[in-house]
Amino acid sequence: MQSLWDDRESAQCRNELELRVYTSRLLGRDKTLVLHGGGNTSLKLAQKNLFGEDENVLYIKGSGWDLETIEAAGFAPVQLDYLQRLAQLDALADTQMVNQLATHTLQASAPAPSVETILHACLPYKFVDHTHADAVLAITNTPDGERRIRELYGDSVVVIPYVMPGFDLARLCAREYPRQAGRNTIGMVLLHHGIFSFGDSARQSYERMIELVDRAERYLKQQRAWDLPQAGVRAGRIDPLQQAALRRRLSAAAGAPLILATHADAETLAFARRADLAALSQQGPITPDHIIRTKRVPMLGIDVDAYARDYRSYFDAHAPQAKEPKTMLDPAPRMALAAEFGLVAAGKNAKDAAIVAELYRHSMQVMQRAQALGGYRALPQRDLFEVEYWDLEQAKLRKGGKPAPFAGEIAVVTGAASGIGKACVTALLARGAAVVALDVNPAIETSYRRQDYLGLRCDLTDEGAIKLALERALLAYGGVDMLVLNAGIFAASRKIAELGTDEWRKVMAINLDANLFMLRACHPLLKLAPNGGRVVVIGSKNVPAPGPGAAAYSASKAALNQLARVAALEWGADGIRINSLHPNAVFDTGIWTEDVLAQRAKHYGLSVEAYKTNNVLKTEVRSRDVAELAAEMCGPLFAKTTAAQVPVDGGNERVI
Ligand code: ZN
Repeated sequence: MQSLWDDRESAQCRNELELRVYTSRLLGRDKTLVLHGGGNTSLKLAQKNLFGEDENVLYIKGSGWDLETIEAAGFAPVQLDYLQRLAQLDALADTQMVNQLATHTLQASAPAPSVETILHACLPYKFVDHTHADAVLAITNTPDGERRIRELYGDSVVVIPYVMPGFDLARLCAREYPRQAGRNTIGMVLLHHGIFSFGDSARQSYERMIELVDRAERYLKQQRAWDLPQAGVRAGRIDPLQQAALRRRLSAAAGAPLILATHADAETLAFARRADLAALSQQGPITPDHIIRTKRVPMLGIDVDAYARDYRSYFDAHAPQAKEPKTMLDPAPRMALAAEFGLVAAGKNAKDAAIVAELYRHSMQVMQRAQALGGYRALPQRDLFEVEYWDLEQAKLRKGGKPAPFAGEIAVVTGAASGIGKACVTALLARGAAVVALDVNPAIETSYRRQDYLGLRCDLTDEGAIKLALERALLAYGGVDMLVLNAGIFAASRKIAELGTDEWRKVMAINLDANLFMLRACHPLLKLAPNGGRVVVIGSKNVPAPGPGAAAYSASKAALNQLARVAALEWGADGIRINSLHPNAVFDTGIWTEDVLAQRAKHYGLSVEAYKTNNVLKTEVRSRDVAELAAEMCGPLFAKTTAAQVPVDGGNERVI
C-alpha cells in the first residue's frame, strides 16, 4: 500500500479543514480502505465564537457523505469539550446520543455527525483517520486475531476488543487509550471492526494509516495468506426465468420490489465453489459497517422463505421489548450464493444492489485471506443482531423520504435512442425504475452512464437478438416489470397502387412482428413481476383515423392495436395490464428536422407554429408529454385499467 500524498495537490489547500478534506479523499480513493460511505475522519480546531471566546470544535465526517468525494460542507462542527464530557458518562442510550450530537452541532445545515463522533473526540490528536481496511480485518477476524495484531504492531497500536459502534465503544476507547498508549503509539485497532490512525498534521495521520495497513498486507503475504484461489472458472447455464422467480420471492419477503444483479465473474464463481463455502459464508460480515449497508447476512442457496422465517423468529426472540419490529422488519436477504451463477446481490434500487455486490467482493477476499491465515471468524450472531436492530432504530429517527414510485422495478423500452422512446427512458428513470433501453442505433449504449441504465443495441426483427438482450437485462437487474413498445417506422408517403411488397413487409416486420416477438419473450417475465406486469403500447392517431398515403403504417399500427387488445384479454389473469397511447404530430423527434417541418407547414399553407399546434386544443404535443403519460400508465393511477386507448394529440376532430 502506497501513500497517495502529492505535494503539489496539497499545496492548494488554504487551511487545515481543506487539508482534512484532501487526505480524507485520498483514503476514499483506495477501495481496500473504505467503501461506500464507510470510514470517517476528523479534525480538532480552536475557534472564536461570536462573543470572541475560544471554542474547541471537532469537525467530524457527516453521514451521507463519502470520503472519496467529501467536501468541507460534509464535516459537521460539534462542540468538542461537550463531547469529551459525554464520554465520561456511565451510559448513554444511542437515541439520546444521536440527539446530543445533533443539538451540539454548531451549524444548522450540517449533516448528522457520525456515530463514531465521541470516539474521535476522545483521541488526543488534531487529526484522526478511521478505516475498515481489508488487510487489517483479514488478521483480526481469525481465532487468535488479537495475538497476531499485538505481535505485528507491538506498542504502535492500542487494541480494543469488539464492542458495537456507538456510545459504549467510545467510552471503552476513552478508557483504554490512556491505559495502553505509549511513546510509539500511532494508531488503534478495533478487533472485528477496523483501524484508527492519528497525528498532528493531516499528512502524518494519513501516512500512519497507510503505514499500518501496509504492514498488515505484508504480514498476510509473509504468512502465505495473500494470494486468492486462482480464477478461470466459468459460469454454468444461467436461467433468466429462475433469476426472475428468485427476485419475485425476495421481493415478497422484502415487501417491495428489489433489483437483483447477478455476478458470475471468475473470482466470484471461484468463491461460490469453495468446498468450505458454508463455513465461510454463513458466518456474519467482516465488519459491523457492512451489515448496516447490506442488511442481511449472506445466504447460501436460494431458500428465501426459510431464511425470512428464521430471521423473523430470531428477531422476535431477541427483541421482545421492541414495540413495532414487524412493521420495520424487512427480512429479505440481500444476497445469495450458488455454484452455477456465483453471487446475486439485491437492493431497493440498482445502486444499492451494486453496493451490496462491491462490499461482498471485498468480504470474499477478506474471508479467504483470514481462512488461509488461521480460519475466518466473524462476530457471534448476537452481536450482529444488535448492529442490525440498532440500525432499524436509527432508521426510525431519520426523516425517510417517500420512495420513488418505481423503486426496485425494471422497465424495458424499445426504440429508445431518440424521440418518444428516449423521453420514456427519462420519465421512467425519474420515477426510480432501472431501465433497459433497446435500439438499433449504437448511440443507445451511451445515452446515459448510470447504474440504473442499460442501453443495448438490438435489432427487434431478430428473435435471437431479443433473447440475448433480455438475458443481459436479467443478469443486470433480475426481471422485467414494465414494457414500453415504442419502436416503429413511418415510411415515405405512398398510395396503395404504388406500394411495393417489400416496403409493406418491412413496415409490418418492425411495427407489428417485432412487437409480437417482444410480447412473447417478455410474457413469462412480466408474469413474475412483484407488483404485476405492465405494458404500454405507443400506438398512433392513425389507428382511429388513418391517413391517405400511409397504408402500411396505418395497417401495422391497427394490427398492433388489435394484438394489444387480445393480450389484455389473455394476460389479465396473470396480473398483467396493457394499455395504449395514440399520439399525433409529435415533432420533437429525429425525423422532424427544421427543414422538413418548414416544408410540411408550407404544404398546408400554415406557419410552422400553426402547423405544430393544428389541433382542437391548439397546443403542441411533445415527446415528453407522451412519455409522462406512458410512465403514469405503469403507475397506480392506472392500476385498475387494462386495454385502454388514450389519445395524446391535443384533440383531433376525426378522432373525436
Ligand atoms: Zn467504523
